[in-house]
Amino acid sequence: MYWKNVLKSNVTTIDELQNYIDLDPKEKSLLKKVVKRHPMSITKHYLSLIDFENPDDPIRKMIIPSVNELDLTGSYDTSGEKSNTKFIGFQHKYSQTALILSTHRCASYCRFCFRKRMVGVSSREIFRNLERAKKYINHHQEINNVLVTGGDPLMLSTKVIEKFLNRFTKIEHLDFIRFGTKTPVFLPQRILEDSKLLSVLKKYSKRKQIYFVLQIDHPKEITKELQAAVKKLQLSGIILNNQTVLMKDINDKPEVLAELQNMLVKVGINPYYVFQCRPVKRVKQHFQIPLSKGYQIVEKAKTMMSGHSKRFKYVMSHRTGKIEIVGIKDEEIYFKYHQAKDIRNQGKFFKKKLIESAGWLDELR
Ligand code: SF4
Repeated sequence: MYWKNVLKSNVTTIDELQNYIDLDPKEKSLLKKVVKRHPMSITKHYLSLIDFENPDDPIRKMIIPSVNELDLTGSYDTSGEKSNTKFIGFQHKYSQTALILSTHRCASYCRFCFRKRMVGVSSREIFRNLERAKKYINHHQEINNVLVTGGDPLMLSTKVIEKFLNRFTKIEHLDFIRFGTKTPVFLPQRILEDSKLLSVLKKYSKRKQIYFVLQIDHPKEITKELQAAVKKLQLSGIILNNQTVLMKDINDKPEVLAELQNMLVKVGINPYYVFQCRPVKRVKQHFQIPLSKGYQIVEKAKTMMSGHSKRFKYVMSHRTGKIEIVGIKDEEIYFKYHQAKDIRNQGKFFKKKLIESAGWLDELR
């Protein structure tokens, strides 16, 4: 396939990276250490979005490894994925949703990835048994949707994607199927040059609604190629939602966050979540901003958005559930469970004493 060949030209070594940025010998050797643990891979398309004259370019920060990744503060499983795993690659945390880790590959590797423990690293946690998934879902009538994620499921061949769709669209109590993907951003060719994929999506979206949950974090990612891919997906019956990770020096200015959410609506993508950056090892220290600051940024940004643009919820994807950050008053910060792992917590409203530097629920008392 054409797109598989395009991926072969990804930049994957620090030596190659030197064709684009200057690195002194010390930095070069530290970055080699970083990518040995968490590989680098960048499509030429995504690389072309970087302004190499600007050391603070947001795309650069999201995709080029940094020596900050040597900081090990945090965890590799911040959302409790291990405890939600029913069998290899199959998770059931929220009663209505089954989640499948379909591959450990992505078209490019985000340096802030919350599944850094496995993405680009190992296929050990990857789903293998479609029959078992079918049986599990059949036994759990409360499941009304499947989220196929990874890594990035659009790295699977169209044949394998069709296999998933064929199985899941036959399960009567499933209302919809979701694919979590950043491929339209990294490698729009996967959509634009693969008419077979589009015809498969079109065929199965007539049986059940298919959603793509994109991850667009900065306005610079909304290129004309991405917009063309979005149009093709929409014409194939796909509904597009987006989640954004709120990150230091990437999108933590209210104007940038507002511009991003407004642009999403303009090109036909629904804002869905703004995620508090998780306290992931090699990520937390240089990407996470404190909850109190995050709340202020989001609220200020909302003053620049229409109702459509601010449909998202600002949440922490915590091991106990998706927790919305709803307010700060006096010395207290208020939360609400938008989705709870324990159904008894569903909708629970609670408060904690505000600690200005805290970036995650567990850091509050
Ligand atoms: S696309 Fe998603 S899964 Fe892949 S590296 Fe980026 S954040 Fe991780």
